[in-house]
Amino acid sequence: MTTVSGENPVVIVGAGAIGLSTAFYLRRQGVAVHVVDRGPVGGGSSRGNAGWVCLSHSAPVPAPGVIAHAARSIGRPDSPFYLRPQPTLAFARWLLMFRRSCRRQAFEHGYAAVARFARTAFDRFGELAADGVDTTLTRPGLVHAYTSLEEARRVHRTQRAMSRTGYEVPERILTGDDAAALDPVLGGKVAAGYLVPGEGVLDPTALIDSLAAHLRKGGASITEHVAVRGFRVRGGRVSAVRTADGDIDCSAAVVAAGAWSADLLRTLGLRLPLQAGKGYSFSVDLGSPPSHPLYLGDKHIAISPIGGTTRIAGTMELSGNNRRLDWRRVVAIARASRDYLGPWYDSPDDLMALIHDPWVGGRPMLPDGLPVLDRLPSVPNAYVSTGHGMLGITLAPATGEAMAGYVITGHRPEGLEAFRCDRFAAPEPWPGRR
Ligand SMILES: Cc1cc2nc3c(=O)[nH]c(=O)nc-3n(C[C@H](O)[C@H](O)[C@H](O)COP(=O)(O)OP(=O)(O)OC[C@H]3O[C@@H](n4cnc5c(N)ncnc54)[C@H](O)[C@@H]3O)c2cc1C
Repeated sequence: MTTVSGENPVVIVGAGAIGLSTAFYLRRQGVAVHVVDRGPVGGGSSRGNAGWVCLSHSAPVPAPGVIAHAARSIGRPDSPFYLRPQPTLAFARWLLMFRRSCRRQAFEHGYAAVARFARTAFDRFGELAADGVDTTLTRPGLVHAYTSLEEARRVHRTQRAMSRTGYEVPERILTGDDAAALDPVLGGKVAAGYLVPGEGVLDPTALIDSLAAHLRKGGASITEHVAVRGFRVRGGRVSAVRTADGDIDCSAAVVAAGAWSADLLRTLGLRLPLQAGKGYSFSVDLGSPPSHPLYLGDKHIAISPIGGTTRIAGTMELSGNNRRLDWRRVVAIARASRDYLGPWYDSPDDLMALIHDPWVGGRPMLPDGLPVLDRLPSVPNAYVSTGHGMLGITLAPATGEAMAGYVITGHRPEGLEAFRCDRFAAPEPWPGRR
C-alpha cells in the first residue's frame, strides 16, 4: 500500500540527524518533503556529539551489570552513568523495563539487531556523499584505551563475540607502551588498548549543515523555530500537522523529534516510554588533535578530532528531559580524561579558560536501548523514528533509507522487526505482582 499520495508533502517533525536523513532519502525518490523544527536545524542532540560512525559500539545501554553500576551512581554526579530518579510513574515504569532489558538474552538480542541494521551505515554515508552532501566522514579506525587490562579484556570479549555482525576486532590486546602508542595523544595511565579498523568519525555540525543545505537546494522545505503541537486526523489518517503557525497539510507524517517525541506520539494514541539520556561535550586544544577517535573504556568517554580541535564527550545522565548544563559533570569528564591523555591542565580552576563550546544534549532513550522505527498501528500514514540513543549519527542515513522506503511503500522493510513500536504495549508487571 502506498501511503504517500496527492500533492501534499510528507511532513517530518524534527530537523535532527534522523529527520534530515529521512528527508534526504524521500527527496532522492522524488517525494515532496517539509521538515519542521521548533528550534534551529540540529538544535537537539545532533551537533555537539562525538561524531562517531562505528559498528563496534552497537551494544544497547541496558546490559548485564549496568543496574548495579547505576545504583552506585545515585548521589554521585561525577559518575559516568548517573541516575537521578524522577518522582513520576513514567520514570519508574521506564526503569523497570530497563532492568528487564539488562538480562543477557535481551542484551544479546538487541546488540545483534542493531549491529545487523548498522551493517549498511558506511554505504549509506557513501550515498549521501555521492549526492553532494559533505559528510566529512573519515575512517581512521577507533582506538580503545583502558587503564585496567581486566576491563579491556571484558569489553574486547563482548566485541569479538559480536563482531560476526560485520566489524573486525583484533585478536590481541596491546599493553603498556604499545597500547599508548596507538595514538599520539595517549599517555597517562593507559595500560591496554586495541584499534578497531575502519571505524569512522565526522564533524556532526558540518554534516547537519550540509544535509540541510542539500535538502533546500533539492526543493525540500525546512521550517525552523516553529513548534509542532499535534495532528489533524481525518478518516483515521493524518491530514495535517498542527503548528504554532497554522496547519501544514500532509500526505504522511514522520515523528523524528528525538527525546521530545513521546508527547507528540501520545496525541496519535502511541505511548512510548522515552527518556533523555543526557550527555556532555566540550572542546580543548591539545596541541594536535588525536589521529583517531578514542574510546576511554573504563570511564566511557569519547574523544574525537573535530574541526582541527579535540572534542571530549561523555556521561549518560538519566535525570529527566532538560538541557541544564551541570558544570560538575564537565569537570568530572575532564578529570577522568587525564588518566589517558596526561595532565593537560593543572587545576580544575583552569578549565573555564581551556574549555570551549561546552554542550549538553539529550539522547532519545527507550528502555531496551533500541530505536523505534515503525508505522503507528492506529494511524496508517503516521510514522515514528526515534530512540537511537548513543548511535543517532551512526544510524542516521541507514534509518533515513529504511524509513523513506517504509513511508513510500507502506511495508515494513526487512530488518526493522526488532524496532517495532508495539513492543512496549504490554503493561509491565510491578514487582510482587508477577
Ligand atoms: C554527548 C553525546 C555524544 C554522542 N556521540 C555520538 C556519536 O559519537 N555517534 C553517534 O552515532 N551518536 C552519538 N550521540 C547520539 C546522537 O547525538 C543522537 O542519537 C542523535 O543526535 C539523535 O538524533 P535525532 O534526530 O533523533 O534527535 P535530535 O537531534 O534531538 O533532533 C530532534 C529535533 O526535534 C525537534 N523537536 C522536538 N519537539 C518538536 C516539536 N514539538 N516540534 C518541532 N520540532 C520538535 C528538536 O528541536 C530537535 O531539533 C551522542 C549523544 C550525546 C549526548
